[in-house]
Amino acid sequence: MQKEEIDRFKQQLLALNGQITRIMDGQDNQNLTRDAVDEVDQATDLMANMMGSAISSNYHNNLVKIQEALKRIENNEFGKCMSCGTEIPIGRLEILPFTLYCMDCQKEIERTRRNRR
Ligand SMILES: [Zn+2]
Repeated sequence: MQKEEIDRFKQQLLALNGQITRIMDGQDNQNLTRDAVDEVDQATDLMANMMGSAISSNYHNNLVKIQEALKRIENNEFGKCMSCGTEIPIGRLEILPFTLYCMDCQKEIERTRRNRR
């Protein structure tokens, strides 16, 4: 992956990290979130959708993933699947910059999780 691309993902991840942290700090309301998204340069519908799903699902979970992804950028491991090590397609990272697994492994993990319930 190009350095510029990694930088772009890093900016997105840092922005998401800041926003979720702020939400978790207690000012949890839709307006704040929308304002926060507007502050981000790359504020696209995609970003807004992503924030929407971050809000409705577990903040903490996403925060952990975002921080893990940032750590992986520092270690030059960003974009590689944590399970099988293949490169995650850039299209997938654009939708979910904090994803840690390729599509196949993610499906496998979700299947296992479902079976456990
Ligand atoms: Zn994989």
